Amino acid sequence: MGLKVVKFGGSSVADGGQIRKVEAILDQDPDRRFVVVSAPGKRGAGDVKVTDMLYACRDLAAKGEDFSEAFAGIERRFRDIEEDLGVDAGLQPEFDEIRRELKKGCTADYAASRGEHLNAVLIAAYLGVPFLETAGRILFDQEGKLLAEETDQALKAALPKEGRAVIPGFYGSEEDGTIRVFSRGGSDITGALVAQAAGAEVYENWTDVSGLLVTDPRIVPEAQTVPELTYDELRALSFMGAGVLHEDAVFPVRAAGIPINIRNTNRPQDDGTMILPRRDGEDGMITGISGKKGYGLLTLSRPQMNGVKGFSAAFLTFLEERGLAAEHLLTGVDRMAAVVKADLSDADGEALAKAAAAALSADCAWQGGLALLAVVGKDFTIRAGNPAAFLTAMDRADAPAVFTDLGCDPDCVIAGVREKDYETAVRALYRTFM
Ligand code: ASP
Repeated sequence: MGLKVVKFGGSSVADGGQIRKVEAILDQDPDRRFVVVSAPGKRGAGDVKVTDMLYACRDLAAKGEDFSEAFAGIERRFRDIEEDLGVDAGLQPEFDEIRRELKKGCTADYAASRGEHLNAVLIAAYLGVPFLETAGRILFDQEGKLLAEETDQALKAALPKEGRAVIPGFYGSEEDGTIRVFSRGGSDITGALVAQAAGAEVYENWTDVSGLLVTDPRIVPEAQTVPELTYDELRALSFMGAGVLHEDAVFPVRAAGIPINIRNTNRPQDDGTMILPRRDGEDGMITGISGKKGYGLLTLSRPQMNGVKGFSAAFLTFLEERGLAAEHLLTGVDRMAAVVKADLSDADGEALAKAAAAALSADCAWQGGLALLAVVGKDFTIRAGNPAAFLTAMDRADAPAVFTDLGCDPDCVIAGVREKDYETAVRALYRTFM
């Protein structure tokens, strides 16, 4: 078998017991060579992630307040792990340096990155595997944007040809060494970049669930795991709110055609979910139902709209000038509507519609308090009967669609429902299509 890059999320490396599970997972398969780790996450409900503790500590330092107790709490998290695993990773000089940097007014990025840094140093020492630094290898420009090409080359040059390496997730640096982090959950991106540079056969992303669920288990407790889906399906689901993987983690592996396998550190016997470039053997199953709240619909109508040159552009500009973006556009004859992410009060919605009416010489209306939901599945919208079953399911459950968008994507149908009907609609759709 070929090389595997394995990334362990915060809950998988939250304490000594979890890190022992990581060790067992590595012992099972020598192809699991590059091990990307997060900072210690929550050990249970009510616990605090080390990354959040670091941000809080830096906030105190930036305000000139005493952060010694906050920092002692962070030190204790790592000391407890060392003690539990019976390892001395030599972290004292690291703690001293971070404390000095906090005093000197370090950036939030630097402070936040130390959770991954310390944990990778510790886990490398415990496993007896070299630590591979990502500062100077995962490269950002001065605006904090990833330099993808440069990063790929630097990683390719640094990854050992044989044996394992433990690699900290979440951060890299500008070319001058200034530490930069990805957005929250960004260790997923580190894992994907390493997988791309290593030409991995698979990118295993180990977390605390046995893969992607068809829908939110808080709404449908019996929601099943999806055995496999394509990058496109995953993209549609995460765009609509389903969250297991950082959205930006897909691009590097997708470009290289590397499958992602979502696995459960607490149940390594489960196959998890496989995310693939394409899937054969259509089984007619949907892969997901996801959605999000906090939307409104701005509808315009104007006779002979189609003949008015530049009308769509003017509408989009009108929204943009107000800091609003049209996440979806719906068009009809002499009618156009934008689905906008905005939680406006009735009065603000009305004011927006009035302003649009004046600016665009059209009749305008705002309907707020909407949720968007999507059903995703290969060729879902073009399979006979599906769109009808979709609408009927919501109607029968008394959670009717306010609008639907079959759009130009055969794998995804989107509907708007009133926010109060959202959970009912999701349950009705799950019952219908699963
Ligand atoms: N530790 C970082 C966070 O909590 C990054 C990560 O875990 O992926 O967001």
